[in-house]
This record gives sequence, structure tokens and C-alpha cells, in this order.
Amino acid sequence: MIEQKTLDKILLKVEKPARYIGNEQNIYIKKEEDIETRFAFAFPDIYDVGMSHLGLHILYNLLNNEKGIYCERVFAPWIDMEEQMRKINIPLFSLETKTPLKDFDFIGFTLQYEMSYTNILNMLDLSNIALESSNRDEKDPFIIAGGPCAYNPEPLADIVDFFVIGEAEETILKIMKKYKQMKQKAMTRKEFLESIVNIEGIYVPSFYEVKYKEDNTIEKMIPKKKNYPSKIKKVIQKNLDETYYLDKMIVPFIETVHDRVILEIFRGCTRGCRFCQAGMIYRPVRERSVENLLELAKKLIKSTGHEEISLSSLSTSDYSDLENLVIRLMDEFKEDRIGLSLPSLRLDSFSLDLIEEIQKVRKTGLTFAPEAGSQRLRDVINKGITEEDLINSCKDAFKMGWSTVKLYFMIGLPTETKEDLEGIKNLAYKVREEFFNQPKDSMKGNLKITTSASCFVPKAFTPFQWHPQNSLDEFKEKQEYLKKIIKDKKIKFNTHDAETSFLEAVFARGDRRVSKVLIHAFKNGAKFDGWRDQFKYDEWINAFAETGVAPEFYANRERGYGEVLPWDFIDIGVTKSFLIRENERSKAGEITPNCKVSCSGCGIQKDFKGGLC
Ligand code: SF4
Repeated sequence: MIEQKTLDKILLKVEKPARYIGNEQNIYIKKEEDIETRFAFAFPDIYDVGMSHLGLHILYNLLNNEKGIYCERVFAPWIDMEEQMRKINIPLFSLETKTPLKDFDFIGFTLQYEMSYTNILNMLDLSNIALESSNRDEKDPFIIAGGPCAYNPEPLADIVDFFVIGEAEETILKIMKKYKQMKQKAMTRKEFLESIVNIEGIYVPSFYEVKYKEDNTIEKMIPKKKNYPSKIKKVIQKNLDETYYLDKMIVPFIETVHDRVILEIFRGCTRGCRFCQAGMIYRPVRERSVENLLELAKKLIKSTGHEEISLSSLSTSDYSDLENLVIRLMDEFKEDRIGLSLPSLRLDSFSLDLIEEIQKVRKTGLTFAPEAGSQRLRDVINKGITEEDLINSCKDAFKMGWSTVKLYFMIGLPTETKEDLEGIKNLAYKVREEFFNQPKDSMKGNLKITTSASCFVPKAFTPFQWHPQNSLDEFKEKQEYLKKIIKDKKIKFNTHDAETSFLEAVFARGDRRVSKVLIHAFKNGAKFDGWRDQFKYDEWINAFAETGVAPEFYANRERGYGEVLPWDFIDIGVTKSFLIRENERSKAGEITPNCKVSCSGCGIQKDFKGGLC
């Protein structure tokens, strides 16, 4: 344990000490003699970001509900804290008991974003744990990882001991049970990995060898032993009402990204936008019942004292009983003045009525995500929104008194032309026009339209997984063009950093050879790469040069349907033939209806029964 006196000294020198002190409401405290297994839930970003992440709260409570297991939290220390820690040699420690990470049995990282990978390395380094799994010994903790980015685990293959692919609630307990047996039998590290390799959803990268062709593409991936699975099937929770859900959440002392109760209403999405990885990997759709959600909401509000509930899902409007749910929640919490927020809502008139109802007091801005500027390109990506939908929704919203609108677009989508870029401008201008078309006396507020254009990143397990990403020059040219043509005081135009998106594309579709680039970049000083002011692009370019890995091979190359993709050994239930079909339909500009309207034959119902789609 790190001594409190030593800690106090450095905490006086950092910007937000509350990030590192723990002791918040609703944490678990366990007696030393009751602890058999220590698990550190590690979030590779700062406290303020990590504490807003629902998965952390779920796993933290789930593990701590088990006898003998103590789950504690750890976050990436911000630059100022790291500096102090390195100065006086304090290793990275857990928040609950200030135990150095090296003394844990497991360190479990959640992979939410490719640009946090170097933070994982930094956290291991700060803990005096070897960066590569092959250099760890019997006394080291197991480094495990899960979360959405684990669906292509290969860029971290040299670093992570094993991955959990899919929804970890049940799997993690199976692993803990095995570990307990291991301790009793005094098994070695390797023997333990052997004992879990056949649990569904577990992937142990060191148990596989990858052979490459002369052109650098993958020839095949070979399990080193016959009993290692050649396909890793994701795990899902079949019935959400029966799945563990927390009834309390830790309440931070400082402001975090979201300070509210999070109520997960369903998992999965049936819309089938062709760029969207979440929409594919989280299939099938599984809902919680209204009764179950009400019960959970009551418990969570009581245990946290929060004043807001946020309904969480990929596409809130698709919850089958949304109106009923919202009415019941508002009714329940009317007297306590608990606010409701509904992110990820499709803004049709039904939703606007709902939002109007729940925002009677204060109107926050509205967000629309048409993603592409022209109808042709929206059909290519299967967004399922028409210009008419958007304009009508804006019209209704303005009539109801809104005046702040955000519009989200992507540039660099497959088949994009100059007309599509101009479409972004035209749409923003049409929204503006709609505001001023209202009768003068009903016009409220000062119009502000924020238009953002992010750079398209092709992701694994999407119909666009074979597409090349635009080059940096192409992205920059498009950004400049848009800046030139969007000239209106009421419209603010934002772009995203193209270099960051380029690296995202490398790691979203990288194979295990990019592990060494990560390590080099980290040694060159890369960390907090997702933070604009910390991002050191030059160090990345040096790391690619030092390792002889060409980033363009991963980001900007068109891949053929016959090529073995680095993530092909993972089975998400959605078939490759469906993804190919969808990619072909996109080229022909054909839309595929929402799976609720007609089944598009994605394959998920074959092996993953239990949801609806
Ligand atoms: S609506 Fe489209 S973008 Fe949103 S989660 Fe579903 S598939 Fe993804």
C-alpha cells in the first residue's frame, strides 16, 4: 500500500486531487482477510471520463457482489500527477486501497477507443509491469481487455494476456471461478490460460501464430494446439431483465463528463447504418422491460441522490415502449424534480413532443446526425433519413422554441463526390432558412447552427471494412473546401483532426504487427493521443519508421473480399456474406430497411437466439 503521507505530499501539487483519493459514496470496502482475488478495473483515460462509463459501474458492482473478490478502480493519471509519481517513484495504485497494481491478480482494461491504447502502456509502465505479455512472469497480474475495440484485438496481441470478446458479465465470473481453482492447485500462468481457453468469448493471443503472404497480407492464423478454438464466438447476455444490473453507482466528488444515473434500456440496433460498428457487433436487440427499468431507476436515484436519469442505448427511439416508459418515469419522479435525458433519439415529431414534454423548464440544443450531405450518399451509407425528415423536424423544433441545432456529418465516406460535400453546406443553409421562414412573432432566441464534419474511419465488422480511408491530403483538401464555402454568421463549422482519424483507422483494422508500433510510439512519448493538446503526431510517424510498418497499408488500402482480415477469426454472429451483400448494395445506392420492417438476413438469429430483430 502507498503511504497516505507520501500521497498527500504530491496531491497538493496536482490540479484535481479528487481524481486520486477514492473514498466516494457507494464504493466497496472489504476486509483484508475476506479477499482471495484482487481485480483492478482499469480505465485508460482520466477519472473524469472513466467515471461516466456505464460498463465500469456494472463490472465493479458485479465483481464486488461476489464473496472473496475485491474489485478496485484505477484510471490514467493526468500529466501533472504522472510527473509527481515518477519523480518520487510511486507506482500506479488503486483508488480504494492505494494498492500498487503489480499486487493485483488481474488488471482489466476496457477498450473504448483506439487512441487510448498508449495510455494502457503508460499505466503498465507506471506499475512496473512488462509491456509485452511474453516478458511477464509468474508473479505478475494477468492483463485482460474487453469492450468494443476488443472485437479487433490484434493490435494489442503482444500486450494483453487474454481478451474477453462480447458482453463480459457472466464470463468474468467463470474466469474468477477458474482462477480460484488455479490458486488452490498452484497452477502456472500458462496452465491457467490453458484452463480458460475454451470458455466462450476468451481469446489468448499467445496461443496463436499468424502466417503472412509475400504481399504482407495474412495467409492464415494457426492455433498452436489442436484444442485451442479456431473461431472465437462473442458472448452475449440473452435476457437483459435477468442480467445483473447495478442498483447503486459510485458518486464522484468532482464533476465528471456525465453526473447522472444511467439506465440502459436495450442493447443492439436494427438500423444497419453501413459505417457503424456498434450497430453490427451488438446485435441482436435485447430490451429491458418497463417494469424492470422503473424498479432500477428508483433504486439508483435513492442510492445516488442524482437529479437526472439518462436513458442509454444506441438508438433510443427504437425502444418498443418508449412513450410508456417516459411517462411512467416522469410520473414517478415528478415530485423530486428528477430530470430525464434521452440521447440518441431520432428527431421526428413524436420524439420532439417527448423532448418538449421533458424539457419544459430549460431547452437544451438539438442534435441531428444526417452523416452525409446528399440523399444519394445517405442511401449509400443506409442512414435512412431524408432531407424532408430533417427539414420538417427542424421546422417543428423551431416552432416549439428551439434555436440551437447541431448537425453531424462525415467526410471521406465511400463514393463521396464534390456534390456530396456541397450538400453539407446546402443542408446547413436550408436549416437556417427554415428558422427565418417562421413568422416573426414565433421566432425565439438567436439561431446557432453548429455543423461538424468528422473524418470517416472504416471499422472492422462493418460493410465498409474493405474500403480505403481517404489520405490525409484528401481530408485536408475537403476540410478547406468546406471552410471556404460555409460562410454564414449563424453557422459554425467544425472539423476533426485528420491525423488522429488516420491513426484510428490504422488501429481499428490493424493486425498484430502494429503492437510494436504502439510500444515504440509510447516510448517516444505518445500518450493521451485522443486529447488534441497532447497528441504528438510526429512521434507516431517516427514509430512507424522505426518499426518498418507502413500505416497506409492498414488505413488507405482497398482490401479484396478474398483477403483474410485480421479479425476474421472472431464470430460476431453477423455473417461475412451479409457484410459483402451490404457493401455491394451500397455501391448500387440501394437501401436496406430496418430489420424491424423486414429481415435482412444478417445471420444473427442462427446462433444468438434470445433477442429480437
Ligand atoms: S442507428 Fe445507425 S448509427 Fe445509430 S447505432 Fe444504429 S446502426 Fe449505428
